[in-house]
Amino acid sequence: MSFVLKRSELDQLVTVLREDGYQVYGPVVVDRAIRYRRIDSIDELAIGVRDVQGPGRYSLVERADDAIFGHTVGVTSLKDLFFPPRRAVWTAARDGDSYRFEPAAPTGARVAVIGARSCELAAMSIHDTVLLGGEYVDADYEARRKAGFIVSIDCTEPGEVCFCASMGTGPGADGGFDLAMTELRVDGGWEYVGRYGTQRGEAILERVEHRVPDQIEIGQARSAVSAAAGAMGRELTVTGLPEFLASHRQHPSWADIADRCLACGNCTQACPTCFCVSTIDTSSLDGATMTHDVRWDSCFSLDFSFMGGRPQRASIDARYRQWLTHKLSGWVEQFGSSGCVGCGRCITWCPVGIDFTAEIPRMMERIDG
Ligand code: SF4
Ligand code: SF4
Repeated sequence: MSFVLKRSELDQLVTVLREDGYQVYGPVVVDRAIRYRRIDSIDELAIGVRDVQGPGRYSLVERADDAIFGHTVGVTSLKDLFFPPRRAVWTAARDGDSYRFEPAAPTGARVAVIGARSCELAAMSIHDTVLLGGEYVDADYEARRKAGFIVSIDCTEPGEVCFCASMGTGPGADGGFDLAMTELRVDGGWEYVGRYGTQRGEAILERVEHRVPDQIEIGQARSAVSAAAGAMGRELTVTGLPEFLASHRQHPSWADIADRCLACGNCTQACPTCFCVSTIDTSSLDGATMTHDVRWDSCFSLDFSFMGGRPQRASIDARYRQWLTHKLSGWVEQFGSSGCVGCGRCITWCPVGIDFTAEIPRMMERIDG
């Protein structure tokens, strides 16, 4: 089942979601970069801008048109909304001579996102496997996911660092959304040719003016996504990659990369699939109250592998190797999929421009050569 919205009807969708109590988020220009931010109207979205990304660089330029979704992924991802950087697990308050402990209540917020990309849906599916699919269930993440509503936008203009086609995660979404759309330029205006992902999505759209698309419009939307798949800025050959990385832990390239890597952890913070966390306790100055928070951590931080009185991965090459081999190799065995969805954020937001889609072929050549 498909539908078409005009731009004004897209705004109605935001209104209906807000009427239903959703906090609606979408890609917005903040501090010269695109980030997910709460919106009341589509007018607040990153209209008429295109992002220019490359290893260690990012800028926004004006487009010749006023496309709403004429850019690729921004700094933040769905991770920030569904698995926030810091949140309380429990609090404690002094009660006479002892302390009273209270678990933090799962969030009551209902988050709706307009403009999620297919690679981000794939990343969230990975988080579902890790945070909901095993013995451990993250109650806060579960509450956010159950309450969330996702409107996905297919990518029709991939960027220089995108390689979702290599990872099989884009550029069009094939699941994980309530509604999905392709933004199309038609007769000087804009149309959003969409499809339903859930009954919840259908129920919401019943309250928004729309019409059924003809076969030509559906074909145009499919062609735009197919063309995008052939226009990726990068590619990564994944066949045999997990085995290659697992069997080359002593490769000399790890040390070469470590010479450039600052161990800043930007790549892990920007990555939509990285989920490593640590805990931190804070107390009031008089000791009357205390909060136990969980916050994002990084395998690049020295403390992260601190065990038995010392860090187990003391060198930067050990930490870089841990990150990449877990993401592209160990993850497959552990969770049944790669830990990379090809969004390119780790390339763009690396301050020294380390790009593993270039490093890995160099590593392989060095062995073959
Ligand atoms: S490893 Fe890099 S390209 Fe892959 S999902 Fe993470 S940030 Fe995106
Ligand atoms: S690879 Fe780049 S972003 Fe990641 S820790 Fe090293 S310098 Fe920082």
